[in-house]
Amino acid sequence: MGRAPAVQPRRVLADLAELARTTGEGDGADRVAWTPGWQRGRDLLRARLAEIGLAAIEDEAGNLWGKLPGRREEMLVLGSHLDSVPGGGPLDGALGVLAGLEVLRALIEANVFPDLTVSVVDWADEEGARFGRSLLGSAAATGRLDIEAVRGLTDADGIGLEAALGKCGVDLDRLPAAPTMELDRTLAYLELHIEQGPVLEQERLPVAAVSGTIGVERFVLGFAGRAAHAGSTPMNVRHDALLAAAATALEIERIALRHDGRATTGSLAVGPGVATVVAGSAELSVDLRNADEDELARMREEVLGVARSQAAARGCELEERDLFAAAPRAFDPELVEAVRSACAEVGGREEPIVSGALHDATEVAALVPTAMVFCPSIGGRSHAPDERTEQRDLRTAIEVFGEVATGIAVGETALPGTALSSGGDRAADSPSRRAQ
Ligand SMILES: [Zn+2]
Repeated sequence: MGRAPAVQPRRVLADLAELARTTGEGDGADRVAWTPGWQRGRDLLRARLAEIGLAAIEDEAGNLWGKLPGRREEMLVLGSHLDSVPGGGPLDGALGVLAGLEVLRALIEANVFPDLTVSVVDWADEEGARFGRSLLGSAAATGRLDIEAVRGLTDADGIGLEAALGKCGVDLDRLPAAPTMELDRTLAYLELHIEQGPVLEQERLPVAAVSGTIGVERFVLGFAGRAAHAGSTPMNVRHDALLAAAATALEIERIALRHDGRATTGSLAVGPGVATVVAGSAELSVDLRNADEDELARMREEVLGVARSQAAARGCELEERDLFAAAPRAFDPELVEAVRSACAEVGGREEPIVSGALHDATEVAALVPTAMVFCPSIGGRSHAPDERTEQRDLRTAIEVFGEVATGIAVGETALPGTALSSGGDRAADSPSRRAQ
């Protein structure tokens, strides 16, 4: 028997229900970062930490930490985010934070003094729902946030990010002081999250390991043609910006299919937008995703090539404007394998899946060996009040997450780049076992 205690999924489900009751049920979760609803959600985490005798510590970026000291200062960090989109779901982010809390609670109740210091963290403003910058707190903690790029951000009411953070006691200029040092002595990061897509439900599987997050290239293609009279302008002399954009959009779909990626042309703004005028301008948004960095770069090159030739064919000018980019991020192979085998043991997915959405884990993985656990989303729905997962699948996923986390915490599960970590029970036992 190992020292790793079992987590109790029912307590996580009870905390999730309590969180939903206090921060918006009928119309969905009301926990947009830097608002009173978000603070109410965090009050629940603070109260639960206090119940197990732990202080809630807020860092310079507003990330909220609970820390259970172990024999070593090096940490295992378990985290996700309590913030939501407006009218969000009950599970996105909250599941991972409250499951992390349960790991600390189980260790404390079982009187286990862990090998590693074990922390739960609620990353601030994962969603970027109010100011448009996702992964704010986790990016600050990894030292990868460009303060000047976010300083001027405002919400829909014209309130600045700096003012909103200030109201929550966070000084924008202090964000870079967020605990890079903490992550520097973190040996592993684990995050449990809902899939937010249809794969696990379609395969009727309760849980999967995540091997990494997909890369993103997001930009706008601006086609400039010539507005002209619908009746008196012959077809062969037109410079129709909309048709150049439309032909490009159809080609972009084929490019995604060719490269085993995803492409979305989700927004098209046409000027002047009048039924009797040939379109003089068209702005097409392009969002490209691929798990492979080279393939993503090739998709982008091909899209730009197609856009240039479609613009030229119709005598339009083309302008390209970058919006956002994130490289594909592979998680730690050994940690992913530990999660994968724990999933397979309980009838979960044999192969890890790649996340099409970005998560705090994407940021943390830049510094720390990282893995994620996914559970299914009914109908693939998320960011909506009807975001659900079957209770039995939630229980299975929480158990798998808990097993891997407690195993690492007490030194029974090998950490990346090591044999079994020093002081682990099994490491000490094995030579004598071999001798018998
Ligand atoms: Zn999330």
